[in-house]
Amino acid sequence: MIPLSLGNIEQISKGTLSHIAQSQADQLIIKSISTDSRKIDEDCLFIALAGERFDAHDFIADVKEKGAVAVLVNREIDVDCPQIIVKDTHLAMGEIAAHIRSLSHAKIVALTGSSGKTSVKEMTASILRHCGETLYTHGNLNNDIGVPLTLFRLTSEHRFAVIELGANHIGEIAYTVNMVKPDSALVNNLFSAHIEGFGSLEGIAQAKGEIFTHLKEQGTAIINLDSNDLPLWKHHLNARQTQWSFSLSAQGKADFYPSDITVKQFTTNFTLHTPEGCVDVTLPLPGRHNIANALAASALALSAGATLEDVRLGLSTLKAVPGRLYPVELTAGKMVLDDTYNANDGSMIAGLQVLSQLPGYKIFVAGDMAELGKDSEKCHRDVGRFAHNAGIDSVFTVGHHSHFISDENQGGQHFAFKADLLAQLIPLLQQHDVVSVLVKGSRSSAMEDIVNALKECF
Ligand code: ATP
Ligand code: MG
Repeated sequence: MIPLSLGNIEQISKGTLSHIAQSQADQLIIKSISTDSRKIDEDCLFIALAGERFDAHDFIADVKEKGAVAVLVNREIDVDCPQIIVKDTHLAMGEIAAHIRSLSHAKIVALTGSSGKTSVKEMTASILRHCGETLYTHGNLNNDIGVPLTLFRLTSEHRFAVIELGANHIGEIAYTVNMVKPDSALVNNLFSAHIEGFGSLEGIAQAKGEIFTHLKEQGTAIINLDSNDLPLWKHHLNARQTQWSFSLSAQGKADFYPSDITVKQFTTNFTLHTPEGCVDVTLPLPGRHNIANALAASALALSAGATLEDVRLGLSTLKAVPGRLYPVELTAGKMVLDDTYNANDGSMIAGLQVLSQLPGYKIFVAGDMAELGKDSEKCHRDVGRFAHNAGIDSVFTVGHHSHFISDENQGGQHFAFKADLLAQLIPLLQQHDVVSVLVKGSRSSAMEDIVNALKECF
């Protein structure tokens, strides 16, 4: 973290001090901030958040014991520990994060989208690491708490930061991007993910477009031509900002596009075209959607100052992330693609495209896609039809909505329980010498249960 005095934090958060004199607060240097009572580092300020299930104000004595030098709370707590009292600790956290960001000289890039945020974030960080010290979002910490926690980790050493922004509702990205004030911003794509919270695809577009509302005056906006969404947020952009577009197909029209694509199982080679020239890229990940992700990541990284050689190196050293099209070889010839981390219609189709290119008998094992509201049946049926047209040999589903996927496939089978599904799946795997299986579903369907059972069995 970029160190701040407690007095300074009091000012930023418009709080009042308690259990410490102003002169002492001005001398007390805070070097880390935590909201997790189990993780208290040196010279740590603990911010007490009140959640639905528990209220961290109940743990103040505990965090003092663990070494927190001060706490930020929404009421005076009867513990002898320096305190800043604010109206709303959650909002104060955002104000402190925004201040820390304003002290950083790093080039900061922010990205959102329905799918591939974490993938693009990892790719961009992998490229920028070749240019200098790079901070990036841990895992999936992309919400109104994760984003400030990420910004707290900024140090004066960082030359770059890559920040993932997620949204469950309109206004969430407007809030987080106001802290991040990015030099470059990307909307990776638009699908029906979390449509329940937004009402419609237009609602999703509006929510994602918020990322451009706090783009730096001379920043770079990166837009996916294949999503055809520029008209939806053109009004957020100004003439001094650069607009870069990327596309898998619109050669010549887009600033970033691929050519000469060759695919070898889990590796993709292509020539990357950019406004700064071309470079041959080896991407150790499967799927056309990962080419699109690589175009987006290259645009973010080049806009922050990377060279084409950094791009080539950064992309070639990527590793698949567990749960995201992660190849698991059960035995020779029997391959499972573990894509169980999450799902929406776009990512299901992306996964099916990869499965359709894999060797042998092809099996799609799908759980529910959650949070699709009234579009649920249509989205599941679209995925089912795609599987049918892609020539998938067997489709097995489990859950409450996924039967719409198997319904669209002759010989598709739906199961009420995972154990019943496994009882059919395992013999089918044994029957075929060369077989490829895609396992996928929303987080709530926990389809990793299937992958784990298969690993135990083979
Ligand atoms: P979350 O909203 O959960 O944070 P995310 O946007 O960060 O998700 P990833 O974690 O990168 O996305 O990938 C999630 C799923 O989406 C994976 O199954 C992956 O295969 C698929 N996916 C990744 N990129 C794309 C893309 N560009 N288009 C469609 N599907 C994609
Ligand atoms: Mg993510």
